[in-house]
Amino acid sequence: MAKQDYYELLSVSREANAEEIKAAYRKAALKFHPDRNQQDPHAEEKFKAVSEAYEVLSDQKKREIYDRFGHEGLSGRGYHGPGSAEDIFSSFGSIFEDFFGFSGNSRGQPRARRGADLQYELNIAFEEAVFGVDKEISFQRRSDCGECTGTGAKPGSKTVQCTTCGGDGQVRRSQGFFSVATTCPTCHGEGRIIQDPCQKCRGRGSVSEKRKIDVKVPAGVDSGLRLRVSGEGEAGTLGGPAGDLYVVLNVSESKTFERDGYDVILKKDISMVLASLGGELEVETLKGKKTVMVPAGTQFGDRIALKGEGVPHIRGSAKGDFIVEFIVRVPKRLSKQQRELLVKFADSLERGGGSFFKELFGTL
Ligand SMILES: [Zn+2]
Ligand SMILES: [Zn+2]
Repeated sequence: MAKQDYYELLSVSREANAEEIKAAYRKAALKFHPDRNQQDPHAEEKFKAVSEAYEVLSDQKKREIYDRFGHEGLSGRGYHGPGSAEDIFSSFGSIFEDFFGFSGNSRGQPRARRGADLQYELNIAFEEAVFGVDKEISFQRRSDCGECTGTGAKPGSKTVQCTTCGGDGQVRRSQGFFSVATTCPTCHGEGRIIQDPCQKCRGRGSVSEKRKIDVKVPAGVDSGLRLRVSGEGEAGTLGGPAGDLYVVLNVSESKTFERDGYDVILKKDISMVLASLGGELEVETLKGKKTVMVPAGTQFGDRIALKGEGVPHIRGSAKGDFIVEFIVRVPKRLSKQQRELLVKFADSLERGGGSFFKELFGTL
């Protein structure tokens, strides 16, 4: 099969710059990430394909070769084909770290730091998890100071390079054969000294503020799931990007329904008469009341499934089932007449060739 064009794979133009390519790859990689697409056997292939495209297009030299000669130009140069998703992760580790914000400061460049991630616990109702919901949440976070635009220096004042570390933010000292780098004690790793700190933020560059945002909770979520709201964490320092906000969902239980993955279970009491004879029964479903058929001879714990009437999958169009589990109830008290009828019923079983007790316990 012919290989697909790398630009097409990433849905970017041939003129796309490095940032656009990176952003496009990030989007595609997250979309086709094998961990997120365990149902889709083609996801890993797509993931590999877009990763390969990125490997080439993110490298100026390889990109030039590709632009001039196409796939042919790169074949046989060892640019192709990590074998598995794991390989991709090892060879692309730094990219993923970069994307997910775990990358540490590279040595000698201590200034810009990414802000910390925040976590917010959001309680939602059972039905909100099933159907999705928009929630406004408010939380406290550190944001760039508006007064000094995050620099920490009083507007108009100057910052000077730290003389202790020469602006590196790190000092090196020898320890035996090794040279060890530590954070500069004078500037605390910032590489510069604020002479006249901003009064609003006292030189920190950030202020604590109350933030309100809307969070779109997709249909099909469940307790423990984390939604990432990028850039809503704490402000970065000295121009570093903000962290992310992780919204951790906590779904309350329903009085009526139970949830088992994407299936919803309703435990429904029925009388032994309905269980024996079968018949129609009205039940509460996720979409209101519905009439279901109880099969004749239903046993305690028997289930019927309404296919596709459960919880929608978070990705894709599949849906779980709505399951009605029958709890067969035996009357605790009988009137004299009911008792006589049941005795007659027992007699009839005996006459029908089987003993009443055999009928009752025969399956044990
Ligand atoms: Zn300030
Ligand atoms: Zn310093």
